[in-house]
Amino acid sequence: MMKIMLDAGHGPNTPGKRTPDGKMREFEFNQAVVHQIKEELQECGVIVILSHIGTSDVPLNERTALANKLEVDAFVSIHANAFGYSWNEVSGIETFTYTKPSEDSKILAKLIQDSLSSITKRNNRGVKQANFAVLRDTKMPAVLVECGFMTNKAEASLLQSAFYRRQCANAISSAILSWARKMQDFL
Ligand SMILES: [Zn+2]
Repeated sequence: MMKIMLDAGHGPNTPGKRTPDGKMREFEFNQAVVHQIKEELQECGVIVILSHIGTSDVPLNERTALANKLEVDAFVSIHANAFGYSWNEVSGIETFTYTKPSEDSKILAKLIQDSLSSITKRNNRGVKQANFAVLRDTKMPAVLVECGFMTNKAEASLLQSAFYRRQCANAISSAILSWARKMQDFL
């Protein structure tokens, strides 16, 4: 059985990390999408573990330690993006791997990026690399996906809508399932 860890980025009280008008905290979006992906994957027989229960901003090293201890098959961190702190035109979807990604991480990132940008029809910013702790300190394939910019007015309202959240969850869960089917030990 495939075991996937889903990570809702940040926590309910993380400073900053909100739309410029203060209407939405990033965590609200991350948490909603994580719960929806969880349901969709579980319906397909995937074991889903959350990196934290969502009541506080759990330190990143605790999240990665849990993933390593439970030996999950993949770690997927869900975020909404920001460019600066005020409204601007920067927009779109991007997915990150570590700076020295495994082949399986690269495959997973590409599947998620393509699925998410085609389903949402937002600007496809591509797969990128970054030295993020959750990508560096996890021993399994790990990706971090940014589902749109809180600092872009159009995307900020999408990020607050149930419809867009469902689109993101559908896109990401179907990409995770495609990836799982490519890995030999699935079911
Ligand atoms: Zn974030």
